[in-house]
Amino acid sequence: MAICRFGPTSDVFITEDGSTLECCACKLNNRAIYSTPLRAEMLHHMKDHLGAGHKVPPEVLVELAQTPKW
Ligand SMILES: [Zn+2]
Repeated sequence: MAICRFGPTSDVFITEDGSTLECCACKLNNRAIYSTPLRAEMLHHMKDHLGAGHKVPPEVLVELAQTPKW
């Protein structure tokens, strides 16, 4: 399931499959996949993207800050 996709307001593409979150074609990771099982780590990763000047939709930060569903 995609949490967010590339678009006019997003420079990140995040998926989750129930146990792993993936930042696909990550601009901070040489277009490779950054993956982590922890929402807090992905949230931190999104803040790194913001720090690099990349666009991350605000609702994604809210989503990642929520209590894990698993
Ligand atoms: Zn990334």
